[in-house]
Amino acid sequence: MSTSRPLEIYMLPFLSFSHMIPLSEIGHLFSSAAQNVTILTTPHNASSLLKKTTDSPNFRVQTFPFPAKQVGLPDGLENFLSAKDIPTASKLYAAMTLLQADLESFMISNPPDVIVSDMFFPWTADFAAKISVPRIVFQGVCMFAQTLKHEVRKSDSPHHSVESDYELFVIPNLPHKITMTRSQLPDYIRTPNGYTQLMEQWREAELKSYGIIVNNFSELDSVYTDYYKDATGGKIKIFHVGPTSLLNSNSNNKMERGHETVVTDNDRLNWLNEKNFNSVIYVCFGSACVFPDLQLMEIACGLESCGKDFIWVVFGKDEEKDDDMIKWTPSGFYQNVIKTKRGMIVRGWAPQVLILNHPSVGGFVSHCGWNSVIEAVSCGVPMVTWPLYAEHFYNEKLLTQVYGIGVEVGAEEWNLWVDSGKKIVRREKIEEAVRKLMDGEDETVKEMRRKIEELGDVAKKAVQEGGSSHKNLMVLIEELKKLRDQ
Ligand code: UDP
Repeated sequence: MSTSRPLEIYMLPFLSFSHMIPLSEIGHLFSSAAQNVTILTTPHNASSLLKKTTDSPNFRVQTFPFPAKQVGLPDGLENFLSAKDIPTASKLYAAMTLLQADLESFMISNPPDVIVSDMFFPWTADFAAKISVPRIVFQGVCMFAQTLKHEVRKSDSPHHSVESDYELFVIPNLPHKITMTRSQLPDYIRTPNGYTQLMEQWREAELKSYGIIVNNFSELDSVYTDYYKDATGGKIKIFHVGPTSLLNSNSNNKMERGHETVVTDNDRLNWLNEKNFNSVIYVCFGSACVFPDLQLMEIACGLESCGKDFIWVVFGKDEEKDDDMIKWTPSGFYQNVIKTKRGMIVRGWAPQVLILNHPSVGGFVSHCGWNSVIEAVSCGVPMVTWPLYAEHFYNEKLLTQVYGIGVEVGAEEWNLWVDSGKKIVRREKIEEAVRKLMDGEDETVKEMRRKIEELGDVAKKAVQEGGSSHKNLMVLIEELKKLRDQ
């Protein structure tokens, strides 16, 4: 048995909410298991994490000045949520890379027992080896998506030989028949570019790590955990410890999760209390997507004509008055749909987990970001899948082709997040997919609901004492203590 002395765990989250939220929740899992956790981040990002540190004495946040000026960014711009174009994102990445010197000197003066690093800090692999501590990597995705990423980067992947970007191909050798088109693959897979080289750096760093920590429960990643382990040489250990969103057991925690929400009072959520069971569709495209007005118009028209009650999260319009909606909603939309309380638009950050947990919410139009997917699964809410960028298309295939818990809206084209909405999804497709999911008549949809509720129950059990994720966390802690004490 290893000693009872707590581990000193340093965590380095990527500067985006979709990585900071789950990684800090993983931090809380460790601290609840009596380990000492320090999150190393920048002042602006720390402020959104600090709210939750007060009741956990062994959870700390250590800040490092963000070198914004050195790369020509305004003070306070420290999070990718604020990067709406490639030049800004590139400067942010450059500034994040410049943090390395300060982070290293802090860790040399105050050595940890383990570094839990986001994949976007590949230098932590060699640094961890230098100071003789294990590195655990966090990628923010599931092992199914990692497997698909691994398969399509091979030189003989079938997407190289299809005749058009829209011809379906089957990803070979997988336990399930997974089909997709070349147009759904990231640009850096289709044609190597600077990002392809970065991907290789992150991959090399992953292979030097002790293990991967995953915000998922092992049951949902089924055979793909072993598949990925074998495909990458069999050495890396994989620890599923999620879904981390289930940590937020009370509604205050759910309300405060991540960014400060624009839904500041419960009155607005009382709107949901007045709705019938499973009658509301929640529409949200993650933390970064800002659609052009043309795409917003199509969504508004699709939601209006489907006749269902909805909550729609819209970014990039927070400054607008209701009258300005006229630019991106059809005539009469405000009067007929919003004022009559059939639909609600949240302009800015919504309390997503609180909403998904509400009994009135019966469906989720999702961009298939991994956090959104795992949160929906945990709440037993089936999805209309509308993938946009990153690994979203792989996640869509998990939902529709492996588990059958999503209805595809018919998105055809992978784009960078800054180009979301370049290929418009038309109102008819949106209406059709939402109706199919929400009408409740379709036998396949009834089966979907049954399946996702069952998976939601498995997820809840996984994080309880004795559940798979809880056990994985305990095994990981025990292994890390042994490594430290050797
Ligand atoms: N989120 C939220 N409110 C919003 C938008 C996003 O709480 O209005 C949260 C959501 O619950 C999830 C994260 O932000 O935890 C988004 O992560 P995801 O991986 O789904 O998408 P990404 O932001 O990476 O595109």
